Amino acid sequence: MTTENTHDAIVIGAGSGGLTVAVGLSTFGKSVALIEANLVGGDCTNVGCIPSKLLLHHSTTGALAGDVLSTVRQRRDDLRKHEEDEYGTTDNIDLRYGHARLVGDGAVTSLRADHVIISTGSSPRRLAVDGLPGDRYLTNDELFELTEAPAKMVIVGAGPIGMEMAVAFRRLGTEIVVLDAAPQILPLMLPDAAAVVARTTTAMGIKLMPGLVAHGFDVDTISLAVGPLGGPPTDAINDVDVVLVAVGRVPNSEGLGLEDLGIETDRGRIVIDGKGRTNVDGVWAVGDVSTEGATTHAANAWGRRVIKHIVAPLAPAGARPDHPAVTYTSPEAATIGDQPVEVPGDVRRISYDFSKADRAYTDGVEDGVIIVDIRRFSGKVIGATVVGPRAGELISIFSLGMKAGVRFHKWYGTVWPYPSYADALGAVVDEYMVAAMKSVPSDALRWARGQLRR
Ligand SMILES: Cc1cc2nc3c(=O)[nH]c(=O)nc-3n(C[C@H](O)[C@H](O)[C@H](O)COP(=O)(O)OP(=O)(O)OC[C@H]3O[C@@H](n4cnc5c(N)ncnc54)[C@H](O)[C@@H]3O)c2cc1C
Repeated sequence: MTTENTHDAIVIGAGSGGLTVAVGLSTFGKSVALIEANLVGGDCTNVGCIPSKLLLHHSTTGALAGDVLSTVRQRRDDLRKHEEDEYGTTDNIDLRYGHARLVGDGAVTSLRADHVIISTGSSPRRLAVDGLPGDRYLTNDELFELTEAPAKMVIVGAGPIGMEMAVAFRRLGTEIVVLDAAPQILPLMLPDAAAVVARTTTAMGIKLMPGLVAHGFDVDTISLAVGPLGGPPTDAINDVDVVLVAVGRVPNSEGLGLEDLGIETDRGRIVIDGKGRTNVDGVWAVGDVSTEGATTHAANAWGRRVIKHIVAPLAPAGARPDHPAVTYTSPEAATIGDQPVEVPGDVRRISYDFSKADRAYTDGVEDGVIIVDIRRFSGKVIGATVVGPRAGELISIFSLGMKAGVRFHKWYGTVWPYPSYADALGAVVDEYMVAAMKSVPSDALRWARGQLRR
């Protein structure tokens, strides 16, 4: 029975993961207390995916920077208002504002439930830059509140957030320098793929300085000293208005009472099993705060798992599908699966120059790459990278194919609309078929060796 403070489930955090779980459980007739410490929509709606993609889109319109930034805030706030209204009035969801803490035995502050789902997200990792005043130090939490584009911005961190914001602010007229300790931008991507983004962003006038970190800021000369990690400064960037720090995320797992309940964490992330359960009965976790989070689609996917296993506790966990990752630069850069730099012996790698596609020709696309790794002989797709127009959509074809276990030779004969960008995948499959058919016996041998090693 549900009383005012007793529910079937308590969801802590009304962001991507928490909303998925709350809405899903409510449609199954479960009563849900949804607790939010700050803003409905979490990072994604307020300081993440939505404002960053709004900015990427509106920065192409040619409007004045101040107007673009104001439109971004307006559109973002409209969405949040819509989400607040919708979830604040959804049947079976009791939306409350406040900072939740687990106190044991199914209770969260004064609430009780059989299930508690922790979906408290993450925060920007803050990096100390000696001498940098607070008003020049930005993370994604402050970035979208700027009312004008700064004249010059140094971005520390060349991951997806850093590179997307480099592109957006460059379009608004900001002079951009991007630093990263790693020797390449987008360090998690294959070097050939990251190189495409490096060339295209450099051509936009973005200065890339891989292999360097920020050493300290001098307020008198408004310059930032930079140098290799662990070494002395070797260079200085002058006339720096602001520094955007985008060097990763830390899970929001402190202050939740996890230690008191003995909930297992790994470097602050809550450890979950294939069903989304923590090691403590009745306590679940989804999204960035868990060991399986980093994106909104991961939070949503794991949220759906949690719903399934609360509603149908005996259902098997099932396989964990590969999650795609997309950086919405220009062009987009997308990956799925596992693609080590060195190709293992039992894997065939097909690299295709995306600019050779007819649609690339008609649209004037001069750079791009598709890289697919396929297990020799068996044809199993291990991983794929697409850098080029609509890479975020094209990678979804791999996501579906890999989840459904469609071997790459079975892709042969698929009819791709001409001249779509997807048609390029047909060319990749053709290349694969020629290579695979020429080497059936040696592939079979390498596949067998690989099987023995695994
Ligand atoms: C600039 C940027 C761009 C991004 N772009 C993309 C993208 O394009 N695509 C993509 O898939 N991902 C993107 N992400 C990542 C995405 O935003 C996160 O992976 C996603 O929001 C995680 O969802 P979540 O539910 O775990 O956390 P969140 O959505 O952050 O929600 C967590 C919520 O919990 C609340 N909370 C925290 N502690 C408590 C507490 N004790 N009590 C009550 N409430 C609490 C918070 O206030 C917050 O509202 C981006 C992130 C950033 C920073």
